[in-house]
Amino acid sequence: MREVDEECRKLVRLLGEGGWLRYAIGGVAYGASAETIDARAVCIIRETLARHSGLADFAFAMQGLGSGAISNFGTQEQKQHYLPSVAQGSAIAAFAISEPDAGSDVAALQCAATKDGDSYLLNGEKTWISNGGIADFYIVFARTGEEPGAKGISAFIVDSDTAGLEIAERIAVMAPHPLARLVFKNCRVPAAQRLGDSGQGFKIAMSTLDIFRSSVAAAALGFARRALLEALSRSTSRKMFGQVLADFQLTQAKLAKMATDIDSAALLTYRAAWLKDLGQPVTVEAAMAKMTATEIAQQAIDSAVQIFGALGVVSDHVVESLYREIRPLRIYEGATEVQQLIIARGLIKAHATKVKG
Ligand SMILES: Cc1cc2nc3c(=O)[nH]c(=O)nc-3n(C[C@H](O)[C@H](O)[C@H](O)COP(=O)(O)OP(=O)(O)OC[C@H]3O[C@@H](n4cnc5c(N)ncnc54)[C@H](O)[C@@H]3O)c2cc1C
Repeated sequence: MREVDEECRKLVRLLGEGGWLRYAIGGVAYGASAETIDARAVCIIRETLARHSGLADFAFAMQGLGSGAISNFGTQEQKQHYLPSVAQGSAIAAFAISEPDAGSDVAALQCAATKDGDSYLLNGEKTWISNGGIADFYIVFARTGEEPGAKGISAFIVDSDTAGLEIAERIAVMAPHPLARLVFKNCRVPAAQRLGDSGQGFKIAMSTLDIFRSSVAAAALGFARRALLEALSRSTSRKMFGQVLADFQLTQAKLAKMATDIDSAALLTYRAAWLKDLGQPVTVEAAMAKMTATEIAQQAIDSAVQIFGALGVVSDHVVESLYREIRPLRIYEGATEVQQLIIARGLIKAHATKVKG
């Protein structure tokens, strides 16, 4: 775990030095490449990084997801304090919304933030937090109780050295990256660290996810394109039955399906990112992109493993790593089933408006 932590810190630093993290934040005054986060640039960067290294893609993505709420909802002071170091790679960001009993049903979260004078006391738990254990700050979503459900949640920036915040558990997963469960015990956070208005937390979380959801699709494309490249290389060189594997029509059908699926998912992905950059609502389009790209990438990578035969299941072989890397993408930032519901709800709502109008 220590090795992964070190590698991740190094990648964040290198991405910062290379200027790539400027695309993960918004606001030129704070070191960003543009005033608002450029969704297409984020997608291109993630697709490219994922093609070469799942951990590099993760390091880049988390700087964006972990600071996106500050870029979009922070005060000038909050932006000035956090964003330049995120862009330089000298501070590591994290986004903490999930809890043991609130994953897909995120509005059920229970972590509480109670007002106490000029500060809030946070009590509760967060789990599956990427960068947990190495982050310098966490965007934490906690219940302030204005109303039940989604409307009673607020967002806070919590520095990792705040008393009362404990890294309770480090979690090892199939595609290793820093991940942890956090516990808050009377963790005192100044009211000035709240993002946006009290009760606005759910909206802040959803609009941050709206920007980055299509970039999860882009990462899946990167993994899938690498798998296709590896499959082409292996199948055109592996000799069997007096010819090479790619000479068989059964193999050609696999390659054709992989390439076509990947390109169709790419069109959905960049449509969503483009609409986001135009300032249009993208909830349905981003859900279509995330669902399709992660699902087809899983299938394409599975085909690559099959083409490699036994070599494909050797630990740390490139296609075996891709097989592990892609799996969590179908679960986090909204599982495939959640995306299906988002798409269907959007369609039904649009249809009802049309029928009425
Ligand atoms: C590698 C990794 C990194 C993560 N990083 C972060 C992070 O940085 N910050 C953070 O806050 N969270 C993070 N998460 C948590 C992630 O967002 C949750 O895992 C996700 O929201 C699903 O919640 P859950 O795991 O509790 O599954 P559950 O909510 O228990 O869902 C289990 C399964 O039920 C199915 N399902 C869900 N809803 C429906 C439905 N309506 N109808 C039918 N089936 C349904 C889906 O198949 C889903 O996978 C991460 C998770 C992983 C795996």
